[in-house]
Amino acid sequence: MPGLLAGPVVPLRLVHRDPPRPRQPGWVRIRPRLSGICGSDLATLSGHTSLYFTPLVSMPFVPGHEVVGELLDDAGDLPAGSRVVVDPVLGCAARGVAPCAACAGGRHNRCDRVTVGHVAPGLQTGYCKDTGGGWSGELVAHVSQLHPVPDELPDERAVLVEPLACAVHVARRAALADGCSAVVVGAGAVGLLVTLALRELTPAGHITTVAKHPHQVELARRFGADDVVAPRDVTAAVRRAQRAMALTPERGPAYLLGGADVAIDAAGSKESIHTALRVVRAGGRVVLGGLPGEGIDMTPAWFRELDVVGAYASDADDFEVALRLAADGPLEGLVGQTYPIDRWREALDHAYDAGRLGTVKVAFDLRNGAR
Ligand SMILES: [Zn+2]
Repeated sequence: MPGLLAGPVVPLRLVHRDPPRPRQPGWVRIRPRLSGICGSDLATLSGHTSLYFTPLVSMPFVPGHEVVGELLDDAGDLPAGSRVVVDPVLGCAARGVAPCAACAGGRHNRCDRVTVGHVAPGLQTGYCKDTGGGWSGELVAHVSQLHPVPDELPDERAVLVEPLACAVHVARRAALADGCSAVVVGAGAVGLLVTLALRELTPAGHITTVAKHPHQVELARRFGADDVVAPRDVTAAVRRAQRAMALTPERGPAYLLGGADVAIDAAGSKESIHTALRVVRAGGRVVLGGLPGEGIDMTPAWFRELDVVGAYASDADDFEVALRLAADGPLEGLVGQTYPIDRWREALDHAYDAGRLGTVKVAFDLRNGAR
């Protein structure tokens, strides 16, 4: 409902406070230039996230984890003034603790130590009280979180690197063999970027993307979907494409016997996850690419012997691939509108209603300061 998210009950305020200071070696100050608004930010602000996360954040925090910014301090080889994108995951390196098994293997998105070390609990920058976040004039980050932005990459593309890295990670978790079919359920920023990553980086065959709004249909096609269908048509479309059989239970949505090789939930709603679970063939794979909703019926995972895998954040390799995609991908116009920070209520309303308003990504523009 427009106005509700950014209304008086939202647990968010615009305040003046001293910026966070680097307190340990390896930490530097960053001035954000553009900071994206992510679906997970909106879910957090509207109370639609699981209480599972409560030990993994520290309050009060400054949101914002999709950040392109400018270094205010030298960071290793990178001189002050360089533009960087921030990998928001606060793993062992950032926390100054000996690497856990996941971090030692280069998979800091699976870090076991996101609550310990010299940084307050917080799975990411933007959920941690010590680091600040992107929706502000200044934050701090550890050098291990930084990726330099090439001069020729404009801010409007660089701010997409973090969500692109997550999409690259989803595409890798989909583990598509040559020619396999994929269904992407959702065509917000995540679903569109996942469609692009599947087409650019994997040997996927037929890709079906589920989209609600006209601009999403056009972008899904531009990004490589063979078929773009409305949510109510996806089961029938996959049934036809895969010569599967549809069954309709007494309650709940129809499902297929037979179906796509892989389905990716890119919306995180109960409905989108049910769709993903119900259009995949027996023995197929379902990737949870978004923060999952509650009340999911897992019956198909059992009956169809599905591999259900999560895809959370990204690792360092994903960021390097995302930087290349940000430079080469057909991403014109994806950052639909930017707002100064003092218009945060409008910005959040716009982001919450982005699909209907024909926008993919809304961002805060902090290049004139955090006004
Ligand atoms: Zn770790």
